[in-house]
Amino acid sequence: MEQNKENMAAKQETVVSNTSGKPPASKDFVINLDVGDPTMYESFWKGMGDQGAITILSSQTISYFSDVTNFCWFLEPEFAREIRRLHKLVGNAVTEDQHLIVGTGSSQLLQAAVYALSPSDTPDQMNVVSVVPYYSSYAPLMDYLRSRLFRWAGDACTFKGDAYIELVCSPSNPDGFLRQAFLKSEGGKTIHDLAYYWPQYTPITSPADHDISIFTISKSIGHAGSRLGWALVKDAAVARKMTKFIELSTIGVSKVSQIRATKILKVVSDSYEHPIPGNPDKLFDFGRRLLVNRWKKLREAVKASGIFSLPEFPSETCKFTGEKAETLPAFAWLKCEKEGIEDCASFLRTHKILTRGGSYFGASPNYTRVSMIDRDETFDLFTERLSSLH
Ligand code: PMP
Repeated sequence: MEQNKENMAAKQETVVSNTSGKPPASKDFVINLDVGDPTMYESFWKGMGDQGAITILSSQTISYFSDVTNFCWFLEPEFAREIRRLHKLVGNAVTEDQHLIVGTGSSQLLQAAVYALSPSDTPDQMNVVSVVPYYSSYAPLMDYLRSRLFRWAGDACTFKGDAYIELVCSPSNPDGFLRQAFLKSEGGKTIHDLAYYWPQYTPITSPADHDISIFTISKSIGHAGSRLGWALVKDAAVARKMTKFIELSTIGVSKVSQIRATKILKVVSDSYEHPIPGNPDKLFDFGRRLLVNRWKKLREAVKASGIFSLPEFPSETCKFTGEKAETLPAFAWLKCEKEGIEDCASFLRTHKILTRGGSYFGASPNYTRVSMIDRDETFDLFTERLSSLH
């Protein structure tokens, strides 16, 4: 978000973008694909009409508490049931023998997990690392409060030592590849950020079964504005500490959001488990269809331009669909190959295309990250403009 604001401020221009809520009106408008705002899902949910609608009376959701018998007392039981149901349906995570915690977005859960894994009785801060290119929010998220418990220590590949927490983002934001923990020390800890481990983005090859797996509503079903994430945690003591963090920072998580998301998740699972003949669409099929189309268009635009390159991905059998499936990341990790252009994001900015430069991800500025999950109009303008750059 911060980078986005800087971009906006730097260019005092009319921005028609993912954040404006309006479709682009003119061909030379600024195209903003910096933030991964999942607005491509809007048309899916419009097509579902009132299927995900709920009514909440003013007498409901007054109490702080959702379930006092659960260690995570602010987790709505129905929301928990729908999360477990969805994982079972998709086959992307083991939920048996895992403690489930809800958070205000996966951003809060990442902080809760790092807090829970950092000992408070040692003078040294815990080092938090991730393999380059890492998700651009990891570094600011770890350092913005200058914690005495942990600190951002950069690239996992160059880290030396035993006291660390490795953040493993798989599929990776920004480059889309599946990842495993890089560091293998006995004393080290890992947190798996599985925001994009959903069948529209990647073939589901096996259910995740890590010490801590973090997911988000934002990228799975597109409801980023509800600000909900969840963590599956093996160790009860770690789960309790994470819960404590959320209790201290926000005294729980919005019940209204959880109730609404419960209904929306139910619509998604029902459409697969109890399909109604003639029912419009299914969410993961919709996402995949759109991304197949967009990746094809983007590769064509890159070819027509001749000055960029993109990663190539293997296809694998997806256990959810039973079919061979390509990897279709939510972001394109675009490299500028033109001689004399060292900063791809700056180059694109001169052509009124806002993206997030490689250095935010600990990588070379030859690379830049482009959101693939914005609205159709923005994406189409982007590929059109990209193909004309030589
Ligand atoms: N992890 C990754 C890899 C992400 O891309 C994002 C969103 N851009 C988040 C975490 C945070 O998601 P949210 O807080 O919306 O759940």
